[in-house]
Amino acid sequence: MAPHLIGLDPRRVDRMNDAMDAHLVGHESAKSALDLACWDIFGKSVGLPVCELLGGRTDVKLPIICSLSAGSPQEIKEEVELFRSRGYTCFSVKVAASQDPALDVERVKAALKDRQPGDFFVVDANGGMTIEGALRMLKLMPPTLDFVLEQPCATWRECVALRRRTTVPIVFDELAVNDASLIQMIKDDVAEGVSIKIAKSGGLTKARRARDICIAAGYTMCVMESAGSDIAFAAVVHLGQTVPRRLLHCVFECREMSTGKIADGDYTHSGGFIQAPKTAGLGVTPRMDVLREPVASYS
Ligand SMILES: [Mg+2]
Repeated sequence: MAPHLIGLDPRRVDRMNDAMDAHLVGHESAKSALDLACWDIFGKSVGLPVCELLGGRTDVKLPIICSLSAGSPQEIKEEVELFRSRGYTCFSVKVAASQDPALDVERVKAALKDRQPGDFFVVDANGGMTIEGALRMLKLMPPTLDFVLEQPCATWRECVALRRRTTVPIVFDELAVNDASLIQMIKDDVAEGVSIKIAKSGGLTKARRARDICIAAGYTMCVMESAGSDIAFAAVVHLGQTVPRRLLHCVFECREMSTGKIADGDYTHSGGFIQAPKTAGLGVTPRMDVLREPVASYS
């Protein structure tokens, strides 16, 4: 892509994306890195934080969702208590790994046992359940448990089939990858919300459009990366800071899933909430001693 980007104005983010898409199909996470750099340059060129350029910051303190381990019911209950004592209000319970619907129900029940007002629980299968397994799990769930089911099955057809047989709110993650899949979601009425992942989308330019499609559809949103660096987390926070409160569930602290610090910035948080810093651009300074020499240069 590099030869086709040199000479373009990086502040024209949509035009940069047009050029990347014209010369490379797919590879959205590679494009995301370049797109984030463009937004950072854009922000610095006008002395504004990226969230202001994405539409303007809300005054929302962004809730950070914690991803609970795949442990036993008792371990999950203790983990929720620990996170709650630190101020967290959003929790993601992973299911489907054991392929044992009854055990998953016990784990979800343990996580929600002492649910507090305002808590938000996601039951995330990462596409790992069969329709049968999902139906068995949902049938065993006490009807008063308040949660959202994330990406129950791997394929579109399975999710639609499950959707017809349950009234549990569903959000899409792995199957919501681009404009086309979001439009298809709305057309098929398969879900109530989306996990927007920035690298999966191809960067902030495309994730911004996903945000706007979700707003138009009335979908709730979690803004996240599966895993990511200090720079990836900065982008998550800036986009999250522009989602209207009534549609924003949370942002994900993707740095927890990776090791090594590659940039500094005002992204420390406590109490389970964060707000975008007021520094220009993404508000991060890369640690060049960690990143070291470029692996390739173009001019
Ligand atoms: Mg997920």
